Amino acid sequence: MTTGDHDVVIIGSGASGGMAAWNLTRKGAKVLMLEAGGRFERADFWSHVKPWEARERRRRGERSPGFETLPLRESPYETPAGQHFLLRRVWGVGGKTNIWGRVSLRYGDLNFKEPAIDGWEIPWPVSYSEIAPYYDNVEKLIGVCGGADDSKFLPGSGHHLPPPNLRCGEVLLRKGAEKAGYTVVNGRRAVLTKEHRGRAKCHYCGACGKGCDIGAFFNSRDYLLEDAFATGKLELRENAVVSHVLTDENGAASGVRYFERLTGAERTVAAKRVVVGASTVDSTRILLNSKSSAHPNGIGNGSDVIGRYLCEQFRFHVYAFAPQLYGRPATNDDGISGGHIYIPRFESPEEKRDYMRGFGIQLWGIGCGAGAQFAKRMAGFGLDFKRDVRKSYPALVQMHPYGEVLPYRHNRVAVDGTPPDRFGIPTIRIEYKLGENERKMIPRMYDVVEEILHAMRAEPLPYQRGDLDELGAAIHEHGTCRMGEDPKRSALNGYMQMHEVPNVFVVDGSAFPTPTEKNPTLSILAFAWRATDYLAEQMRLGNI
Ligand SMILES: Cc1cc2nc3c(=O)[nH]c(=O)nc-3n(C[C@H](O)[C@H](O)[C@H](O)COP(=O)(O)OP(=O)(O)OC[C@H]3O[C@@H](n4cnc5c(N)ncnc54)[C@H](O)[C@@H]3O)c2cc1C
Ligand code: SF4
Repeated sequence: MTTGDHDVVIIGSGASGGMAAWNLTRKGAKVLMLEAGGRFERADFWSHVKPWEARERRRRGERSPGFETLPLRESPYETPAGQHFLLRRVWGVGGKTNIWGRVSLRYGDLNFKEPAIDGWEIPWPVSYSEIAPYYDNVEKLIGVCGGADDSKFLPGSGHHLPPPNLRCGEVLLRKGAEKAGYTVVNGRRAVLTKEHRGRAKCHYCGACGKGCDIGAFFNSRDYLLEDAFATGKLELRENAVVSHVLTDENGAASGVRYFERLTGAERTVAAKRVVVGASTVDSTRILLNSKSSAHPNGIGNGSDVIGRYLCEQFRFHVYAFAPQLYGRPATNDDGISGGHIYIPRFESPEEKRDYMRGFGIQLWGIGCGAGAQFAKRMAGFGLDFKRDVRKSYPALVQMHPYGEVLPYRHNRVAVDGTPPDRFGIPTIRIEYKLGENERKMIPRMYDVVEEILHAMRAEPLPYQRGDLDELGAAIHEHGTCRMGEDPKRSALNGYMQMHEVPNVFVVDGSAFPTPTEKNPTLSILAFAWRATDYLAEQMRLGNI
């Protein structure tokens, strides 16, 4: 085993690992970061490459960064027949933050305490007042645009950058939703709508999904790792695929095993403390594969909760047209890409209804910025069809409700009996299905969408009530290494520290006991910051 003088080894360089590195290095800790992928060079981004040009460039053999191809090729996953789960992963410096959707919503006590109220599984071991200062600090650090709204469903912030103007379709959607009795707020996104901490503001090209070539939205590499490198205390090993956390005879973490992706060489490195941030499913794979005599069920898994309770949101999409906008000249609706408005959850725990928890509605893909994919679903052909498409193009509106999936013990990530990857390490099996509660929520979600479309007199494209997007498509996996007060029902305490192995912290979304109805990354950053504050303090006190 190679020894080093690192104080902490961090696995993964995305939102959670990046935050851990940023916070620990500025507090003086020496950090070794192991990252499965390589660096995405900004010069290679195809942010402003138009579709016709992309076709040409591909023909010439050029390739845009294949953000998501590596893990699928090198670490495929399996699902039982008839239980497809879409797992999207980015292996490379910055992880999924290179291409994430940037929606940044605070969780509140409604989310943290609801399991204690409705009795389904375990509540969060942290209250809103404990995490709120970290939300403030994260927002100040990364820059999140948004409005001045504040409610128990979506706690407010005094630190938002100005929200972008609304597109015409969004103005009409807001009117319709408000007429139907629903609150509409400015979207909150980690996009710089004005210069922030020396970084250039967004130029509204709407190309965020291809990576931002000026770094105007939060990504771990620009916003966290750059600062960490500047301290001189961060060493990053790229293309280092971690397979195991190693333990000593007492069961404490003592090292990490990894494989050099490009050569296949196996390496081990000594570790006094390990911070796991490889994203929910990959972190769970590492923990479950880390078996030893002290941890026969995977490291820190005496409770048998690791791998179980996989949960995220389910969603669907409804497309419609706002007739007021038919036939208008095409407008530049790119904006900061994605929705500039949001409909937060509105169901209180006290409200009488036949399902628990709730849903929020995202509203992206409005107007001309969304392209004309909708045309594939329109009837007709020839000149009339082309005229119809042109007429409808500026009038497109879309609604995307996200509903919370309860944590179920049988929904899980497993490694036993799966085929090995090319290094001989068991890959992942995902077993996941919706339950009765979600099925009861679906009709209400459709009802609300229809009420809003009716109130704005929108003309929907045909859809089937009850249809859902593929499971996993929300890309917000949680729950498989959850935190909680009770070590028999959780793997981590409220500081994301393993109950059974105090020198291991798991700082990504796997630690979240519930998915909530919201996107998680702002919360992942806040919780990882809080966990590493605690770790640094325990190191200072000599406790870990
Ligand atoms: C298209 C898209 C849109 C999204 N939109 C939103 C949104 O609007 N709002 C929101 O909140 N979230 C969104 N997300 C989710 C968001 O990106 C994640 O919540 C966030 O990046 C999670 O951070 P993480 O550190 O857990 O994982 P990641 O950012 O994925 O980082 C994990 C890192 O670990 C590395 N790794 C994996 N396995 C290993 C291994 N064995 N050894 C070493 N390193 C390893 C990976 O290479 C990666 O760099 C979106 C994601 C995608 C893909
Ligand atoms: S819309 Fe803004 S944040 Fe997105 S890629 Fe363009 S400049 Fe970057």
